[in-house]
Amino acid sequence: MNSLIKGNLAVNLKIAIVQLNPQIGQITSTVGRTWELLKKFNDKIVNTPKKPDIIIFPEFALTGYNFHSRDQILPYCSLPDKGPSYDLACKVSSMFECYTVIGYPERTKNGDKLYNSAIVINPQGELIFNYRKSFLYQTDEEWDCLENPQGFQTFPLTFQNIARDQQGNVQSVSLKTSIGICMDLSPYKFKAPFHDYEFATYNVDQGTELIICPMAWLHSTSAIAGDDNEIEVQTSINNIGRNCTREDIPVVGTQGKFDINIDNNETPRLAREDEDDRNLFHKLDKPDMCNVNYWLLRFLPFLGLKERSEWSVTALSRLILRGKLFRSSYVGAALDKYWSFKDKNAVLAIANRCGIEEGKTVFAGSSGIYKFNGQEFEGNDSLDSTNLSVELKGNLGKGNEGILYREVNFQVSR
Ligand code: GLN
Repeated sequence: MNSLIKGNLAVNLKIAIVQLNPQIGQITSTVGRTWELLKKFNDKIVNTPKKPDIIIFPEFALTGYNFHSRDQILPYCSLPDKGPSYDLACKVSSMFECYTVIGYPERTKNGDKLYNSAIVINPQGELIFNYRKSFLYQTDEEWDCLENPQGFQTFPLTFQNIARDQQGNVQSVSLKTSIGICMDLSPYKFKAPFHDYEFATYNVDQGTELIICPMAWLHSTSAIAGDDNEIEVQTSINNIGRNCTREDIPVVGTQGKFDINIDNNETPRLAREDEDDRNLFHKLDKPDMCNVNYWLLRFLPFLGLKERSEWSVTALSRLILRGKLFRSSYVGAALDKYWSFKDKNAVLAIANRCGIEEGKTVFAGSSGIYKFNGQEFEGNDSLDSTNLSVELKGNLGKGNEGILYREVNFQVSR
């Protein structure tokens, strides 16, 4: 890693992501597979220095995702400190002595309000944070999910003895952390201007150091619910059927075929997906680079762009409306610093689910761990995974369940 900048701490954070294919109504078998997977993972790391500081699960990790009504989802909803997701997270935290983050459907005490949420359990097994999804996807709206009344949030996560100062002394560090659940990464209701990059802009402005994203993000072969072109929907459904037959997988996709990826291999950068990748659901053990590129594009405020330094003050005056600063940065550029994130570091962990629901919704898997290094590179202004300011520490494949484990070295200023 780069030499330690004066006043900075060098952090070594060990992250594990669990990628699952949960189906609605099958919590017991999903929990069973999760333990089978975690035990296999544990057997591989037990006599090594590998030991996760945090384990991250997807959005609605145990329940499945495509609920269509309030009545249908209600039996699966829990208070933050009750229910199967909470129980599992507490056990995972105590087994690995680490933080656990898991997405689950939340209901309030009298059951009148429903949210799409993620809890954070600390290594002592205590619930320390509950985040509710702020931007909702159309599927969330079908069951009367409410938006997080607080919007995006940050909170501190304290890790014991994972940092070193200039003198080499080991220290604990409290990382400024945020959670974004799937649609939080998209433009609000797909209607806000793409270049607002709401979630990434919020995090650049806040100086977030660790960004955790539990997701149920779709693969491009999905037949999108609510699409009123019935012929197109049917064509997509037929295509999904053909993909399953060709791959020799059941209609729900792969379950119990585990990829445990704990080597330090970085993901090869790829500007564009294979020609076939939009229509075919194949190479299930390889990441879907189409989505990886899109996710990284949604973090453009964190990406180095040499050309940003040439953006004129006139362009930046978009930040000022009727004499008031109404937004502190725009695509990462601020009035006082042409790139707010320059020379900073941040870690992004995306835990996406895999599998297929209702023969229609294909999830994209491809969970990954990334480091934004805050550097710009001459002649490298690409808006995808080939931008050298993002390091692709590793990804799981698009279709199999599994665990991704990586250690990320980065600096924080203290
Ligand atoms: N934008 C996401 C997608 O297209 C939203 C899905 C979600 O919120 N679960 O997959």
